[in-house]
Amino acid sequence: MIGSFHPPQRTLMGPGPSDVSPRVLEALGRPTLGHLDPAFVAMMDEVKDLLRYAFRTENALTMPISAPGSAGMESAFVNLVQPGDKVIVCQNGVFGGRMKENVERTGGTAIMVQDPWGRAVDPEKVRDAFKANPDAKVLAFVHAETSTGAQSDAATLSKIAQEFGALTIMDCVTSLAGTPIELDTWGIDAAYSGTQKCLSCVPGLSPVSFSERALDVVKNRKSKVQSWFLDLNLVLGYWGGNAKRAYHHTAPVNSLYALHESLVMVQEEGLENAWTRHRHHHNALKAGLEAMGLSLVVPENERLPQLNAVSIPEGIDDAMVRSRLLNEYQLEIGAGLGDLAGKVWRIGLMGHASNQRNVLFCLGALDAILGNIKAPIHTGVAVDAALAAYSA
Ligand code: PLP
Repeated sequence: MIGSFHPPQRTLMGPGPSDVSPRVLEALGRPTLGHLDPAFVAMMDEVKDLLRYAFRTENALTMPISAPGSAGMESAFVNLVQPGDKVIVCQNGVFGGRMKENVERTGGTAIMVQDPWGRAVDPEKVRDAFKANPDAKVLAFVHAETSTGAQSDAATLSKIAQEFGALTIMDCVTSLAGTPIELDTWGIDAAYSGTQKCLSCVPGLSPVSFSERALDVVKNRKSKVQSWFLDLNLVLGYWGGNAKRAYHHTAPVNSLYALHESLVMVQEEGLENAWTRHRHHHNALKAGLEAMGLSLVVPENERLPQLNAVSIPEGIDDAMVRSRLLNEYQLEIGAGLGDLAGKVWRIGLMGHASNQRNVLFCLGALDAILGNIKAPIHTGVAVDAALAAYSA
């Protein structure tokens, strides 16, 4: 007979999911309500308000899609791109490639702007792409490239799109609540995120926000949105403003309690304080890694504090080190993807997991394993260097 599943207790310091706060896990276990119950509907309104706070927007259409970040991504493309539309897509890692897939599946044409993996998107290349394609309808870019740890200059990219009269789609799955996002100040038209990164929540929901300009495009489409589930015209019947809530799909009620709790936590801490905390622990981790002689892939001014891609020293077996961390320390860090597979480890310091205990634990564990296999690093100095950074 198959018994209950009891997961091992791990520390999640990979690219996500990150450790879920105990407060969020407790919220998940509260009694399930009907998805049209007035008490639940009132909580939905609070979730929308709290998301507007986190995204820094007044957008009325700000809500969680009932599916993971990939569905948030898809909701932006299927609603805003129509067959024949040109979309300028920036690719500097894995997720820009997925944007291209999305554009092509909606019948659009993706004009690719390529940058090296580990670097931010180059705004000059984007400007050149618009000059060559002034009829492009949308600019799409990843604000925080989880596959490399690079952060792009969303304000500048969005300004270029506006100069050419295009909408912007921004992937902020890894940035929301970890590093500054200013949807309204930047003029972003569609943004999507995920719950499993800096929100310290369970995976499986995708907060999204659409501007009025974007909504106009959706309402005036010539063809129906190809996805029934993600058609914003229909989703709005359930999540929309003051209209009576109509059944669209059965909302993941308990996951939404969890999201509500995680957003309450962000509000209690204060967004700016959360951004500062992520930066603070990143600096200590960096000090420890550099003391060991390891280097971060992304140049300092383009680095995300919540996702640290570290070059693996020559001759070291990537998978063996990660599996020893998992088996001997119950610690998960991430592997490299695509161009960076086998070349980097990705160490996440996201949300609730961005704390001093995790920084010191991860450095100590890496130091011990790399020392044990006689890797070419300076052993016994990483934790001290991080502690020195904390007391500086
Ligand atoms: N975009 C980025 C930048 C991501 O990091 C991820 C997931 O890691 C996604 C999109 C897709 O999100 P999900 O895995 O929740 O579908």
